[in-house]
Amino acid sequence: CGIIACVGSGRTVPTLLDGLDNLEYRGYDSAGVAVQNGAGVSVYKRAGSVSDIKDDISRAAPDGDVGIGHTRWSTHGPPTDANAHPHTDGAGDVAVVHNGVIDNYQTLRSELEDRGVEFTSDTDTEVVPHLFAEHLEDYADTETAFRRTIETIEGSYAIAAVVDGEDAVYAARNGTPLVVGVDDDRYFLASDVPAFLEYTQDVVFLEDGDVAVVRPDDIATKNVSGDSVNRAVDRVDWDP
Ligand code: GLU
Repeated sequence: CGIIACVGSGRTVPTLLDGLDNLEYRGYDSAGVAVQNGAGVSVYKRAGSVSDIKDDISRAAPDGDVGIGHTRWSTHGPPTDANAHPHTDGAGDVAVVHNGVIDNYQTLRSELEDRGVEFTSDTDTEVVPHLFAEHLEDYADTETAFRRTIETIEGSYAIAAVVDGEDAVYAARNGTPLVVGVDDDRYFLASDVPAFLEYTQDVVFLEDGDVAVVRPDDIATKNVSGDSVNRAVDRVDWDP
């Protein structure tokens, strides 16, 4: 139900946890984060409240320059630890958070299972990391692999993904809000401005059909075919 991501300059885990706190007003039944720091993608997630996972995460999570966080409002699969986001490909190569519903997940899941992929959750979301991991094998660059993944899914989604060894967050939206926050030395990505409003009021509202690659020093916005689309930075005058 809520996404927060942070790209650049460390302090990632505390920023993600603050972002999850700030998204609590949207309601949720589970929460989790994934951090990419060049030594694999580490995932911490659990059914329950943000305060339930906060201490464990602060103690255990390695910090890194890139991370994604999620508060879940279950649509497919009960609120369990396994169904909490982020979801991974099982090999630690990619982690994905998602708001919304993937309408064609049953077909995609059966096709993946026919190819030997093992699922660990009941969610519609879990097809995304598995497809992304397959496409990473097929395409030389991560952005193409991500766009091919997004082309394959149907439904409503805001998605944010991290890939092992890459200081970047890959994002896409269709029918579910997603906004980039522009700070002096880092970027945020969230389902709603209040997630990062204490850090910046400079935002880029993504539009349906957009794919964004957010790096510590740059954002690229494209359509799913890879053509650049221009999205201006707005200043919101909401009180932090
Ligand atoms: N459909 C996904 C799930 O049930 C995402 C729900 C959400 O938007 O939080 O896990």
